[in-house]
Amino acid sequence: MHPKGYRRTATAVALLLVVALAAGAALAARNDGDRSQEVKRAIEGGKAKNVIFFLGDGMDDSSITISRNYLRGAAGQFAGIDALPLTGQMTTYSVQENGKPDYDPDSASTGTAWSTGFKTSDRRISTAPGTGEDLTTILELAQKAGYATGNVTTARLTDATPAVLDSHVGFRSCEGPLDMAPCPEDKKSAGGPGSIAEQSVDHGVDVLLGGGDDKFGQPIDGGPYAGQTVTQSAIAQGYAVVKSRADLLAFNGDKKLLGLFTPGHMNLEFTGLPATNPPSGPQRCLENQRPANEPSLDEMTAKALDLLDKAKGEQGKGQAKGKQGFFLQVESASIDKQEHAANPCGHIGETLNFDRAIQVGRAYAAKHPDTLVIVTADHAHTPLIVENTSTPPGISSRLTTADGEIMQVTYGTSPAGSSQQHAGGQLRVAAQGPQAANVVGLIDQTDLFHIMARAIGAE
Ligand code: MG
Ligand code: ZN
Repeated sequence: MHPKGYRRTATAVALLLVVALAAGAALAARNDGDRSQEVKRAIEGGKAKNVIFFLGDGMDDSSITISRNYLRGAAGQFAGIDALPLTGQMTTYSVQENGKPDYDPDSASTGTAWSTGFKTSDRRISTAPGTGEDLTTILELAQKAGYATGNVTTARLTDATPAVLDSHVGFRSCEGPLDMAPCPEDKKSAGGPGSIAEQSVDHGVDVLLGGGDDKFGQPIDGGPYAGQTVTQSAIAQGYAVVKSRADLLAFNGDKKLLGLFTPGHMNLEFTGLPATNPPSGPQRCLENQRPANEPSLDEMTAKALDLLDKAKGEQGKGQAKGKQGFFLQVESASIDKQEHAANPCGHIGETLNFDRAIQVGRAYAAKHPDTLVIVTADHAHTPLIVENTSTPPGISSRLTTADGEIMQVTYGTSPAGSSQQHAGGQLRVAAQGPQAANVVGLIDQTDLFHIMARAIGAE
């Protein structure tokens, strides 16, 4: 009897193992064997013809994991965000006006860091702490080196992240000509360069796509276009203006393009219950909430790539004809804004649009391997995954994930009803293409400027 009994036990154990392996296989899909050759192949120095910089505002590791668990499951993977071969970690602290560290930065100071290579104080847009001196941006260097340029966002085009590339002001709130009270010396009527909206147009960025129509609709108070709106001054300076998804998708002209799709920030992909105490949910998010007249971030990215690509070389098209290549920034802005609002569905939907936009960028890079692609964030944020049966002291929401399990997300950096805070933790930075290997290890956010500047041959 013993051998038979043993055999039965062995069979049962084998069966259990098969079951366990099947379950394990679904939840442990990361072992790709020895990837040394793959990593070696990804390491490439030299110059890039194109640079695509993807920024998820407030998209720290916790934020990515919340979105991944919900959308793809715990063992899932984003086809864009998670796909780049070389990854490092990046510190993001800013500085005070006296140059000493500030451990909790904002999108203006961190944007100034990655776009100029210099730390500055919170709320400054590509100007130096203390002196207010203008700091040269990667977009300006790219223009000087003969590259076409693009700036795409789901926020107002005058919001801090896009602003750091094509303007220099002392305060991020100086977005339109009527917003200049904190920056009197920058007003055009005072001989300054004007608001962020004015400067972005005057910089001649080839493709500007996002929200913020209200800011561009304000009247200019000095200089050659005094009395006209910023949008009118853009038209006078050779821009075509589109205001709907249909007009964007149909645009195939030779002019520079200014797309202004909403009065303020663009609308969200997902909505849902905000965090509360006791916790809201368990919930699934309401998907596909973006109005039909607004383009998605991936549609804006595809159009920007199409137009910037056409500008290249002798056969190039349009005003940017004959360009060396291009620099394009693409921001998913409302990951951060929905983290401030303690709305997990909002942040998850904006991460999904970011992932799709990155896939568009990587598809372009697959056809044009001389493209540096960087995917990162600007600063960390509030939401954390905690035990799903607990009632944390802050506000929380429970979500039913793609695994069919409950994930609890908590927000505890501000009281209920007020804006949740940024956080100061280091962030993931991922890259592929020429110079991408320089993101590996622990870098500082300012290093991104130098990586991109080397890629376009500007240093
Ligand atoms: Mg931003
Ligand atoms: Zn923020």
